[in-house]
Amino acid sequence: MSAIHEWGVAETARQIQTKQVSSVEVTQALIQRCEAHADLGAFVHFAPEAALASAKAADARVSAGDAAPLLGVPLAHKDVFVTADAPTTAGSRMLAGYQSPFNATVVQRLIDAGTISLGKLNCDEFAMGSGNENSAYGPVKNPWDTSRVPGGSSGGSAAAVAAGLVAGATGTDTGGSIRQPASFCGITGIKPTYGLCSRFGMVAFASSLDQAGPMAKTALDCAALLGHMTGPDLDHDSTSLDVPGVDYLAALSQPRAGATADKPLLGLRVGLPAEFFGAGLSPDVNEAVQAALKQLADMGATLVDISLPRTELSIPVYYIIAPAEASSNLSRFDGVRYGHRAKDYDDLGDMYQRSRTEGFGPEVQRRILIGTYVLSHGYYDAYYLQAQKIRRLIAQDFQAAFAKCDVIAGPVAPTVAWGIGEKSNDPVANYLADIFTLSTSLAGLPGMSMPAGFGAAGMPVGLQLVGNYLTESTLLHTAHSFQQTTDWHRRSPSLTPSGAAA
Ligand code: GLN
Repeated sequence: MSAIHEWGVAETARQIQTKQVSSVEVTQALIQRCEAHADLGAFVHFAPEAALASAKAADARVSAGDAAPLLGVPLAHKDVFVTADAPTTAGSRMLAGYQSPFNATVVQRLIDAGTISLGKLNCDEFAMGSGNENSAYGPVKNPWDTSRVPGGSSGGSAAAVAAGLVAGATGTDTGGSIRQPASFCGITGIKPTYGLCSRFGMVAFASSLDQAGPMAKTALDCAALLGHMTGPDLDHDSTSLDVPGVDYLAALSQPRAGATADKPLLGLRVGLPAEFFGAGLSPDVNEAVQAALKQLADMGATLVDISLPRTELSIPVYYIIAPAEASSNLSRFDGVRYGHRAKDYDDLGDMYQRSRTEGFGPEVQRRILIGTYVLSHGYYDAYYLQAQKIRRLIAQDFQAAFAKCDVIAGPVAPTVAWGIGEKSNDPVANYLADIFTLSTSLAGLPGMSMPAGFGAAGMPVGLQLVGNYLTESTLLHTAHSFQQTTDWHRRSPSLTPSGAAA
């Protein structure tokens, strides 16, 4: 039988519900693993005692016949979700010591489904980054090669799942932050349609782009989590979508109309955007992606050529819109009501300046400056307004593409995970690495990453699937079918416990 840390969400839930194992036993096993691999830096707040207390309570509920679907399953949350039982930092010094009085809606819904939490997971400061190197609490290491980044900004979530420290985790994706770390760490993650998960209690980065989603080993586990994260929350987030809930787990086992057992994807048209396979794509990633596409074709899918002609523009457009929204969202952190306040200052202006200089790291400061500039009088039309217009065209390009295909497939990132420190002094190099994930976010479409093989230096490569609005079931079904015939998602890194000889 497989070890507890390999079970993931659905299997852990089943084992606990059928009393094969208690939540306390699972939680103890994972706590031990978290302690042995603390050097990964995945957690910013590790809460073993609280987790054990919750596990005990979950076991009592199991004994009493409570059948909450994810009862006693240990997760951990990206530290941009506010939580009532643990501090929230968003990876920033600005929020050090901040304690929320309430839970983010996504966290609360997962608690309502029975999950428990081992703590809060490291991330890039205010979710700004692609390598988790912008966290005020240190970088996260990739479990496959600890000299490399786990991706970002949900790097702690991806590393924790890949290393088997938690059954599953929450992440957020504004421009790729679920999909890219999932790809870099060899796990599965889905960013739903914008608005499907409530943003209430998610520390805001760019409000028109921010979206929560699950990160786990498999599409099955993502489906198990996603069903308990979504749903309207209009009293708290007016942009949350008022659409009926979907049983994503049921959707996985639902065969496609007209499909057969050996061709489960028969009839599925998979669009391959020419712009995702150009010169910028590194050959090792391309090779793994091509093999995965061939697998989809072998399973009955029809591969069709499509074009997303403004893919390149998604970088300047995103890096205008996201900083613009960030500069506005982050203006509340001025040391008066919110955030760190400098100890010494001369007057009010000096207090603002020192508090923000001390509280925000360099990448966040850079984005506030860029965002303030593109929104300022005289530049608004030239930058922000233009970017909004191109954003609309990018969304239209997707609609034209979806006339020819049901899902779009391609790489998640141009390369495998890079070395820690390799790009940390080059913000533009980080921005360029986001080329394949930004357009999906700008259009508000659902996108996911699933393990598709390995590239240079034996590092994981993800396949990205993008669907039209509210087609999460199709994406998860496609990924699940792929995972029935491949075993990339079952591969796990061989880790040396910290303190042990390498
Ligand atoms: N890498 C992108 C950025 O730095 C996306 C981050 C995200 O999705 N939160 O903005």
